[in-house]
Amino acid sequence: MTEKSNRKKTVGTKSVKKTTGRKKKHFDVSFYHDWCKACGICMAFCPQKIIKADKNGKPEIIDTDNCVGCRFCEIHCPDFAITVSDRKPKRRLNDV
Ligand code: SF4
Ligand code: SF4
Repeated sequence: MTEKSNRKKTVGTKSVKKTTGRKKKHFDVSFYHDWCKACGICMAFCPQKIIKADKNGKPEIIDTDNCVGCRFCEIHCPDFAITVSDRKPKRRLNDV
């Protein structure tokens, strides 16, 4: 084996760890089931595959913490039945 091919192999196995120190953003996804016609577009477009059909064929989120906030579901819903919003920190009872 040549010296050049050895060097490539070493570089290929090196693991790179990102340390940005930023916290992961979270999002809330709301469905207005009265406006939804269960077409399934939102389920097909979600890149995270976290929107599934309930027993009536209407969408529900199965893992909200994995939502990346891309808003593909909101943009593509033909009935404007989805709202994606940044998750606000929960208020403490004493703050009210
Ligand atoms: S915002 Fe994006 S990741 Fe989140 S539920 Fe909608 S399509 Fe999926
Ligand atoms: S895209 Fe809109 S109308 Fe279609 S299933 Fe999703 S929420 Fe319902």
